[in-house]
Amino acid sequence: MVKISFLGGCREVGRSAILIESKTGAKCILDYGIRFRGKQRLPQDFDHENLKAIALTHCHVDHSGAIPYLYKEVDIPFFTNSITLRISNILIKDMLNIGNFSYPFGNEELKSMMRNAKFLQNELRQKIDENFFITFYNAGHVPGSVSILVEVDGRRILYSGDINMGETNLVERALPSQFPEIDTLVIESTYATREHPPRNEVEKKFVESIANVIESGGKVLIPAFGVARSQEALLILEKHNYGGKIFIDGLAKKICDVYMHHPEYLKDIQKFKNSLSRAQFISESQGRNDAKNSNAAIIAPSGMLKGGASINFIKSFLNDPFSAIYLVGYQAEGSPGRKLLEEGVFEYREQGLSHKVNGNILVAKCNRDYFNFSSHSDGPLLHKYVENLKFRNGDNNIFCMHGDNKSTTNFAKELIEKGYNSVAPEIDEIYSL
Ligand SMILES: [Zn+2]
Ligand SMILES: [Zn+2]
Repeated sequence: MVKISFLGGCREVGRSAILIESKTGAKCILDYGIRFRGKQRLPQDFDHENLKAIALTHCHVDHSGAIPYLYKEVDIPFFTNSITLRISNILIKDMLNIGNFSYPFGNEELKSMMRNAKFLQNELRQKIDENFFITFYNAGHVPGSVSILVEVDGRRILYSGDINMGETNLVERALPSQFPEIDTLVIESTYATREHPPRNEVEKKFVESIANVIESGGKVLIPAFGVARSQEALLILEKHNYGGKIFIDGLAKKICDVYMHHPEYLKDIQKFKNSLSRAQFISESQGRNDAKNSNAAIIAPSGMLKGGASINFIKSFLNDPFSAIYLVGYQAEGSPGRKLLEEGVFEYREQGLSHKVNGNILVAKCNRDYFNFSSHSDGPLLHKYVENLKFRNGDNNIFCMHGDNKSTTNFAKELIEKGYNSVAPEIDEIYSL
């Protein structure tokens, strides 16, 4: 019997981790991420004996963050690709340096993870043990992201990772037609109960809104995730012929540099180069002051205003009724970005300290808006993905994970109504296939 264990990412977004075991007991881990809150930040532990390989879908730390922990004990291949490895290294180092939580591993284990990395090209089958193979396929989520097909003892299990079938400017979208027939699907459910607005309309409104603010003498702060979203924002501005000044700061600059060195993972490297040539990189505090005082758009992480370069700018924006803060990413409940959108106030907390400006929560006088540039498929696209996959032997097994309780369980219910054998697994559950 092939066994699949859900070690994390069950009815939650965070610490995604799956263990697959062959009938001879050989094991493979798919993702081993962390979550940002609570005491239990790592996935469930498991018996590492006979672990043959670790494979990673993409760089985000909810998938990659706890992989170094496994290298405390094992010395086995870590299958990934070059862009994912470089960015995972940057993000995990950042995560360890923030220092608000003491992880049971550090830079030594991260180095061991880096040493064990083996690069896999998409659509090339890799043997990890007898009758045990993995293959990567483009997942369309961020540059380098993959879905993983596991072939074990004749069973085919597809783990989607985070997927996007929607059109973006940065990366080619995921195509369900690329896979062979499968027996079991493990699929993300982040936005399974929601529908994204039409992308092109959101893009146009975003660029028009920025142009209007600039024209009336204001400036625009675009807090964006440093990985992928900042670069997508640049590409959108370029695509819609935005002619104004653009500055880019913080982690986003580093990631731009990584993307330039990995053109094969981008949809169109020339367009990316064009978008970069329009932007000015902010390199020191004088540059920050110049950017602050100019009639410009500034792209700066972090996406939820939890920290990062955007914090250097925020005060001068909040006080200016002619300026705007445009959020372009997911805003978690309780995050400063969400509070700013919903309550029109800004309160910044870090490491348990409250950075209330002048001892008070700052009321925003500037314009604020949210533009949905999600890099996940929405409900209709997730259903389309499933419908376009071919299941063999009539098993039709689908496990819904990587979504809150409502998204995962509702998605599983909708799939059951469509005739699939679906469930939203709970943490530590083991299924025989
Ligand atoms: Zn992701
Ligand atoms: Zn994720």
